[in-house]
Amino acid sequence: MDAASTTRLVDDFRRHVGQTSPFSYAFPVARARGCRLWDREGREYLDFISGIAVCNVGHCHPAVVDAVQRQASLYAHTMVYGEHVQEPQVALAREIAAVAPPGMDCTYFLTTGAEANDAALKLAVKLTGRGRIAAFRGAYHGDTLGALSCFGDTRFRDPFAALLRPVDFLPFGDFDSLERITNATAGVLVEPVQGEGGIRLPPPGWLGALRDRCTQTGAILVFDEVQTGFGRVGDWFAAGRYGVAPDVITAAKGMGAGMPLAGVIAPRDMLRRFAAEPAFSHITTFGGHPVSCAAGLAAMGVIRAEGLLARAVELGESLRARLREIAARRPCIRDVRGDGLMVGVETESPEFARAVVIRGYEVGLILETNLLAENVIRLSPPLVVTRAECDEAMTKLEQALG
Ligand code: PLP
Repeated sequence: MDAASTTRLVDDFRRHVGQTSPFSYAFPVARARGCRLWDREGREYLDFISGIAVCNVGHCHPAVVDAVQRQASLYAHTMVYGEHVQEPQVALAREIAAVAPPGMDCTYFLTTGAEANDAALKLAVKLTGRGRIAAFRGAYHGDTLGALSCFGDTRFRDPFAALLRPVDFLPFGDFDSLERITNATAGVLVEPVQGEGGIRLPPPGWLGALRDRCTQTGAILVFDEVQTGFGRVGDWFAAGRYGVAPDVITAAKGMGAGMPLAGVIAPRDMLRRFAAEPAFSHITTFGGHPVSCAAGLAAMGVIRAEGLLARAVELGESLRARLREIAARRPCIRDVRGDGLMVGVETESPEFARAVVIRGYEVGLILETNLLAENVIRLSPPLVVTRAECDEAMTKLEQALG
């Protein structure tokens, strides 16, 4: 493709497509496969963010492409969610029940992570008849009004305060403040590993203590696994990885393998509450889109067949070991952390981290910072990444570090 047409395309992107920041990379993507992207000039890039933690089975996995094409040629949309029996939805729900914590046998399908969190908050209020919600500082749960109310950063909440609900914000990982979850708390929304907050791991035993406190007080514990779910931290869900079963899991991102898909996963008796007092307590047109469900089902098959859970654990550990070697030579790196292939590299400043991301594009490596921890560079490659691709990424990262 000629440079002039790319320039025109990028100009029109800036002019006609709503922007979300003043510094979009405006990367003109042409195609993607596995862990690689190509721009319109044919330059190749190693994708180490999976757009963000979405393409866990890699871009255009043949099994996913085939499932999408087959389903699109059968039917794409026939009725709002919940009124027609659509085989890809049923098959995916069955598969999820098989890998979710025991008893969580039912999925309410939606389209985005924020929507799933809103639905989970509504469910907690409905199940308990209580009104208070607790969430954590540094949390990101999405940008719909319920999820935004739980956004653990005042910079993002305050401009919309007039629209939001009061939420009790607790420090993530702090044992003592769990006492602030009380008999008045309807639900507690938590990312088991904070993503946008800077890839922050829960201290050992903390998720279990949170579980115990919710059990004592009758609060509904919701794990937001939008980022951690579907293999990212080396198990189907962080709930399994950390051995703590919440009452409800919300999932999205990797669930649809690149297609829009989200879910609230819970015991059937809980989710039935959406069907009563009144019926249609939560409804959606596109939730559980059959083409997205076909993609999600195929992706689960790939994760199983290619052993991607074990691979996320193994390659995540070796990636962090390599990063720590680099950090030992580069004082600009302050910390390396993460679980599975959800990795954070804390650098000296937000400006430095952003410069590394920009240089990453120049050397053919796609990275990103975190929304709330702008000095932390995230690495979340597709789980199909190979050891050789990890080596290549580390060489490019060293170039990008300058
Ligand atoms: N929850 C977490 C933990 C996320 O990381 C995100 C998105 O980054 C969301 C919720 C929001 O998901 P979506 O953008 O699909 O609404």
